[in-house]
Amino acid sequence: MKITHDVHTVHTKHPFVIARGGASEWKLVRVRIVDRDGVEGWGEAAPNRFYGETTDSAIAALEKLGPVAERVLSHDAFALEDLETEMNTALRLNGSMKSAISAAAHDLVGKRLDIPVYRLWGLDPGKAPLSSFTIGIPQTEKELVQRVDEALEYPVLKIKLGSDRDEEIIRAVRRAAPTKILRVDANAAWTAKRALRMIDLLVEHGVEFVEQPLPAHDLEGLRFVRERSSLPIIADESCVVATDVAKLAGVVDGINIKLSKCGGLREALRMIATARALGMTVMAGCMIESSLGISSAAHFSPLLDHADFDGAALLADDPYTAALSDIHVRGGRPTRASRRRDESARSLSQQERNRDRRRCGD
Ligand code: MG
Repeated sequence: MKITHDVHTVHTKHPFVIARGGASEWKLVRVRIVDRDGVEGWGEAAPNRFYGETTDSAIAALEKLGPVAERVLSHDAFALEDLETEMNTALRLNGSMKSAISAAAHDLVGKRLDIPVYRLWGLDPGKAPLSSFTIGIPQTEKELVQRVDEALEYPVLKIKLGSDRDEEIIRAVRRAAPTKILRVDANAAWTAKRALRMIDLLVEHGVEFVEQPLPAHDLEGLRFVRERSSLPIIADESCVVATDVAKLAGVVDGINIKLSKCGGLREALRMIATARALGMTVMAGCMIESSLGISSAAHFSPLLDHADFDGAALLADDPYTAALSDIHVRGGRPTRASRRRDESARSLSQQERNRDRRRCGD
């Protein structure tokens, strides 16, 4: 059992701007776990500064977590639960690298069994919700309309707010997309007063729900807003791991899970189970990630109410032609395919290769 990594620089088609700022270039770390038979499992870390991570810190975390993973998986390649437990014991935080290792270990198990990971969990890919497509905060209305036009194939749009032009943006989006489902993400930028005023306007424009209106730590503020809001409130920045979910019951209506926050696929399943037990809505999202990162999360998408898996669709240079899973979401619909653009399909199982050949007609 051997773990290797490499770094891929990717670029969004447009600068991706949210309430905290924006960027066009992103560095992703691919993790490969190779077993003694040469079978490879792949995962991807999308480190995010808001959660205290950078590309360098993710690679430094791999130096500590890699030997832990090699030890656990060399003993038992199917020890997915122990893997996450031992990584959490060895190192706090560093969710993006832990999730990359967890995803690679799950991918390896799926390939050894010749089934996709969602089948391992008994899930029906037909139950995966359509993904939304995110419209970042634009500079001008012309730019906004152009972005909405580019998202033509997506029936659900997630609008980033948290600027001093929020009212103008939501009105312009609704004019440009009169029939689409709209969701809003304020990325922790509003006060309670501003949130309630904005929610009145969002109701008028048929918005479905609001993600993280207030700062992550302000749970009493979130409760105050939720009690007065006619739209459901979803926690993202306030909800990192499963132990956060219980604290949010009664405070918000639902949670937004991201692998790069929670640190692994087992933890994501635990968050889903906890939220369901508390009667909460479950959504999952992503950072700016390639199809590799998105496909790891897509495996549990049949368990979700809402999916926001557009990270790769926002890229101009996704290094992969599609996903390593059967249920990667592209164009709002589940599709399947898988391979690095510039590498052979050696890590694909025979079953996957046969399916790919059938689809390509060769
Ligand atoms: Mg969010």
